[in-house]
Amino acid sequence: MLGPVILAASRSDRMRRLISAAPVTKQVVDRFIPGETVDEIVPIIQELTARGLELTMDVVGEDITTPEQAEAARDAYLALVERLRTLDLGTRAEMSVKLSMFGQALDGGHELALANVRPVVEAAAAIGTTVTLDAEDHTTLDSMFAIHEELRRDFPQTGCVIQAYLFRTEADARRLAEAGSRVRLVKGAYKEPAEVAYQQKHEIDKAYVRVLRILMEGEGYPMVGSHDPRLISIAQELARQAGRKPDEYEFQMLYGIRGDEHLRLAAEGHRMRVYTAYGTDWYGYFMRRLAEKPANLRFFVRSMISKG
Ligand SMILES: Cc1cc2nc3c(=O)[nH]c(=O)nc-3n(C[C@H](O)[C@H](O)[C@H](O)COP(=O)(O)OP(=O)(O)OC[C@H]3O[C@@H](n4cnc5c(N)ncnc54)[C@H](O)[C@@H]3O)c2cc1C
Repeated sequence: MLGPVILAASRSDRMRRLISAAPVTKQVVDRFIPGETVDEIVPIIQELTARGLELTMDVVGEDITTPEQAEAARDAYLALVERLRTLDLGTRAEMSVKLSMFGQALDGGHELALANVRPVVEAAAAIGTTVTLDAEDHTTLDSMFAIHEELRRDFPQTGCVIQAYLFRTEADARRLAEAGSRVRLVKGAYKEPAEVAYQQKHEIDKAYVRVLRILMEGEGYPMVGSHDPRLISIAQELARQAGRKPDEYEFQMLYGIRGDEHLRLAAEGHRMRVYTAYGTDWYGYFMRRLAEKPANLRFFVRSMISKG
């Protein structure tokens, strides 16, 4: 019951101000967002890659309100790509972006987001890596898929995310499961109405397996984004049935969640990519992590009370 309430709060400006300013928040937030600047995140990148993990980097931020903020988002990603270049980590780390941070919801937002994200995709390609477009709420997805298609004309390795909880996703998966495509499948992290999305966990899990089968049997490169142990073993089984070798799909998990499992899968010879978020505008990302596991909220509230 708590999950939807937390997700509603994730869209509230008042809650954003309150929680972002709470004195103990930073320490709790660090579990999921282990740095605010490129300088702070570099040691984490080096540590994770030294342990045999690959990364997808997210500069946190979403739902910006001015074109200047969208340009700042573009520049933050360009600075990150430049740092990856100097570290020679282009082949180990890719980027994940939210188009709402690149201006998608502003006037003329579709074109604006495309114009702002393109230089990031170009810069990533120049150092041998790529960009994946995250999936946000369902109202943004037609625009996201159109931008994805447009970017793929010049940069076919550009990836995108599909969400198992949406009714539309099986059809999206069929369309996307073509040679050269890179598709991350996740359960879905936003508050979606019953008209467009499954609401029950068991329905979402079943949909995840159906969509995963489409991706594994297709021609593209599936990226299995989940921490769910059952789905991880089903993914391994589906990959085996589809005759895929370990380098023909990958697992992805979020930094701060089931870290031992990241290492276990990597040690078994799987490609394991850790979604690593950093930056100052962490509120929306952090709240979605709380909503996924309400025990995190209890920990957060306890730490506020003990400091209070
Ligand atoms: C790499 C990656 C990228 C993602 N990108 C997107 C995206 O673009 N769009 C989108 O809508 N969603 C995205 N998500 C989030 C996703 O939709 C789910 O909300 C999230 O992954 C939780 O679902 P699960 O598959 O891990 O299964 P769950 O059933 O939620 O979790 C399985 C187990 O994992 C652990 N776990 C899961 N979440 C947490 C948490 N927050 N804190 C502590 N433990 C936890 C628990 O042990 C839990 O029992 C992404 C997830 C991953 C892993």
